[in-house]
Amino acid sequence: MVSYKDLGLVNTREMFAKAIKGGYAIPAFNFNNMEQLQAIIKASAETKSPVILQVSKGARNYANQTLLRYMAQGAVEYAKELGWEHPQICLHLDHGDSFELCKSCVDFDFSSVMIDASSLPYEENIALTKKVVEYAHKYDVTVEAELGVLAGVEDEVSSAVSHYTKPEEVVDFATRTGCDSLAISIGTSHGAYKFTPEQCTRDPKTGRLVPPPLAFDVLDAIMEQLPGFPIVLHGSSSVPQEYVDMINKYGGKLPDAVGIPEEQLRKAAKSAVCKINIDSDSRLAFTAAVRKVFAEKPGEFDPRKYCGPARDLMEELYKHKIINVLGSNGKAE
Ligand SMILES: [Zn+2]
Repeated sequence: MVSYKDLGLVNTREMFAKAIKGGYAIPAFNFNNMEQLQAIIKASAETKSPVILQVSKGARNYANQTLLRYMAQGAVEYAKELGWEHPQICLHLDHGDSFELCKSCVDFDFSSVMIDASSLPYEENIALTKKVVEYAHKYDVTVEAELGVLAGVEDEVSSAVSHYTKPEEVVDFATRTGCDSLAISIGTSHGAYKFTPEQCTRDPKTGRLVPPPLAFDVLDAIMEQLPGFPIVLHGSSSVPQEYVDMINKYGGKLPDAVGIPEEQLRKAAKSAVCKINIDSDSRLAFTAAVRKVFAEKPGEFDPRKYCGPARDLMEELYKHKIINVLGSNGKAE
């Protein structure tokens, strides 16, 4: 078996330790296609930011696991070609839902996996997570686990309501499972509709929805229980209103889409939160750019002419996140 290390990939252990110490967070960007991967690698290489490439179940179904794995291997070479001498790239399974799936990714040279057993009863979550950790650690693959339930829809993972992580459970959970990082629920949510209008207030000046703040008291209590332990935030897209406006202007229909304000993510990134997942924002950027081309040049039928601008807009978004929100730029020379 080839090790992910032979492919030039890294696991998350050192990345996270440095991020916690340095008060920044590593971007975890999902990818499903070539343009998205190009944009992620260009942005990371240019800003010298460590990066986590995430493959979800939906991505595996859409693009094929084998192809995605070789694309990630190609990404390392591409990064070097772009002048990034020591790329810090992790290939991570997002929301693994079974031992078999996690095992297949470990066997297929992923450097990190998530086992999301958060919908199971507590003891079953522990048992399944522990089983994955025991297997993955044999190959020095790091494991992310989850405690608490996020609301929203992500590929096939969905829940109507969120349940905050219970700080009194985290020490027992981390100790008994041996997981390397913990995804928690403090009010983030999957998708582009993170909150209903009823959960929000409205900015009187702009008429925009203002979402409820994240539960930083829960985060603080968790960090107090597990000092220095890597914490992960899922569902952390900001749903930039400029993209929503662009989509709506060029014939789309996304009323009242709302995400997590960036100043809250900036605050989280300075804490033990060392991995922040961003997926919906790049979907919005892609769609906004494509819609603009379609609206302005209806005669265009070369996919490169609309996927190209989509790639550029995603790259801009990724750089913005790295530099202005997560603070991970310049951390992987
Ligand atoms: Zn997630």
